[in-house]
Amino acid sequence: MKNKLLDRKHLIYGVLLLILSLFVIGFLLARKMNSMITNYICDMITEQAATMTKLENEYFESEYRQLSEIAVYLEDVVEEEEKVKERAQVLFEANMEAGVEKGVLTLDGQAILGKALSVEDFICIKNAFQGHHSIGYKEGDGLLFCMPVFRGKNVKYVLYYRYLPDEVQKRFSTATFKGKANILIANEKDEVVVASENDEINAGLIGELQDNGIMMELRNRLNVATSAAKAGKWKGKDSIFFLAEIGETDFYMIGQMNEEDVADGIDTLIVLVLWVFGLLLVLVVSGTVFLFSIEGKITESEALREAKEEAERANAAKSEFLSNMSHEIRTPINAVLGMTEMILKESKEEQILEYAVSIDSAGNALLSIINDVLDLSKIESGKMEIVESQYEFYTLISDCYHMVLDRAKKKNLELKVNCDETIPSKMHGDMVHIRQILVNFLTNAVKYTNEGSVEFRIKGECCEDLCALAFTVKDTGIGIKKEHLDKLFEKFVRVELKRNQSVEGTGLGLAITRQLADLLDARIEVESTYGEGSEFTLYIQQKIVDNTPVGRMEFGIHDNKVLLAKQNEEHFEAPGKRILVVDDVEMNLKVFGFLLKNSKMEIDKATSGQQCIDLIRKNTYDMIFMDHMMPEMDGIETFEYMKKMEDNQSKTTPVIMLTANATAGVKEQYMACGFTDYLSKPVKGEQLEQVLIKYMKMG
Ligand code: ADP
Repeated sequence: MKNKLLDRKHLIYGVLLLILSLFVIGFLLARKMNSMITNYICDMITEQAATMTKLENEYFESEYRQLSEIAVYLEDVVEEEEKVKERAQVLFEANMEAGVEKGVLTLDGQAILGKALSVEDFICIKNAFQGHHSIGYKEGDGLLFCMPVFRGKNVKYVLYYRYLPDEVQKRFSTATFKGKANILIANEKDEVVVASENDEINAGLIGELQDNGIMMELRNRLNVATSAAKAGKWKGKDSIFFLAEIGETDFYMIGQMNEEDVADGIDTLIVLVLWVFGLLLVLVVSGTVFLFSIEGKITESEALREAKEEAERANAAKSEFLSNMSHEIRTPINAVLGMTEMILKESKEEQILEYAVSIDSAGNALLSIINDVLDLSKIESGKMEIVESQYEFYTLISDCYHMVLDRAKKKNLELKVNCDETIPSKMHGDMVHIRQILVNFLTNAVKYTNEGSVEFRIKGECCEDLCALAFTVKDTGIGIKKEHLDKLFEKFVRVELKRNQSVEGTGLGLAITRQLADLLDARIEVESTYGEGSEFTLYIQQKIVDNTPVGRMEFGIHDNKVLLAKQNEEHFEAPGKRILVVDDVEMNLKVFGFLLKNSKMEIDKATSGQQCIDLIRKNTYDMIFMDHMMPEMDGIETFEYMKKMEDNQSKTTPVIMLTANATAGVKEQYMACGFTDYLSKPVKGEQLEQVLIKYMKMG
């Protein structure tokens, strides 16, 4: 049991650990996925930013292309300033646009067309005079594209397009990611050239990224690539920042977008993963609960099986104990009752006789308790066998009558037998157990009646070979209250204890009776009027063997035996006869000897099976009394051996089993072995004499 508890504890820990690990794995996976997704988004944005810069670059290229075409036209007339001015004007006017200023500058900073611009403001003019087309920006002045016009290898003029700030915004602003990204273009001095729609971004993005180091990291990455992106926070929100170089300019594109806008759709993937994990957890938990319930059931049924086995073991031990106890207790009682009987027979002193009567009644009460306990244990262990045989109906009734007669007489109660005369004389059934039930009814009737009578009424209704019998025991006793009637048949239940204090009993009799009735397929009914009397009826069917009516039953009316009168009874005498008694307990042999003291027979005693065998080799006995339980060779083994012996001088001698084993049904077993009869210890002098009279060959 302890082991099971331990296993259960381990299992609980195991499952908790599993759930915890699933949580941790789920958590780590979600984090890993998050970072993977962020990396993926960054890569995506890096690529997109590169594409956008290319687009931006193409805008710039298209400006350069126009300027360079004009420059080529001007190279033909580069020597003549007027012609240059003229052509340039024509060409500029051909694609006049609002918000764009166009002009031609000379080396000394003068403008031959358009506004003059200072090199200090736009360093790109200087670059152009050095032979490179170039772009420049000045806050408030706008965006300037410059293109050199060559005379041979030298630059003679510089053409320019200047986009005023508003126009710059219109023409070069860029939007991507469905407009969700905030993008701006800045120059090498970190001045915003093309602003985004978000003023906060325009005002603070560059500064913020410089402060938190992201700008530095992005710039470092630009050493090996043209664009880069990194995750971070913008105004408390998860954001992706990106940076990209724009072509051959000193401009760069910088931008921010909220991660949730980019991750839209990708996020559902995480949710999906979390769902899968959640589902997995639910599965584990419900699986565990299921396992526990199954395990609980298995443990329960295992516990039940163990308990059942334990109970069976205990029951077997109990039966063995009771059977031993039967023998062990009956042997000393045998001595007590035997000796008491001797005192009753021989003592002349009234006081001593009174004591002896008390010992006798206490001894008998003890005996009946032991018999009840033994019977109950036999029934409960399923060892109570129903043994059916032919029997004389008269014998059944007579046995019952005589078994309670003495007690009834002692209480001055009238014992009446009223039996249907037409009942068949021979039946087939378990007489021993029917008798046990009826004797219990009769004993109770006598016990719980203080004056009046006990009537034993037997009725039978027969048809063909079956007879339905009703045995009723009616008394004029104390009666039973209605509310107690149901409890009577429970084990160890005695009702009205106070009132019945002086009546001996264990509360087992009726419990045994009910169980026996069940075994016999019989039924018991009780009717009672409190204070007036009770009626117990046993209904049972028996097979008819001989239909001859049992006739009128008459039982000899014995005189009330007065104690002293007992002593004057005529004793059984059989001078010249020789009997053998075999018992391993010296005390039993002594009692036996005392009981037949006046019989004038020769009584030989053997204390073992072997001694018995030795004696019957030499002597011929008129009767042998054999104990059952003996060490080495028991009574049955000795008897079997005797039957086979060639030199047995007592081959035809009746052998009576004399045993303390008194449980119901044993008599039949002994008879089946071949014993002539059976007497249960403690044996009474009277019973002994009856057996001697019955079986001893006289003469
Ligand atoms: P007990 O050993 O106490 O007689 P039983 O099982 O034979 O046990 O009877 C159970 C109880 O039923 C008794 O204690 C008694 O109170 C009641 N009882 C049985 N038979 C009678 C009867 N004939 N009259 C009154 N009470 C009875």
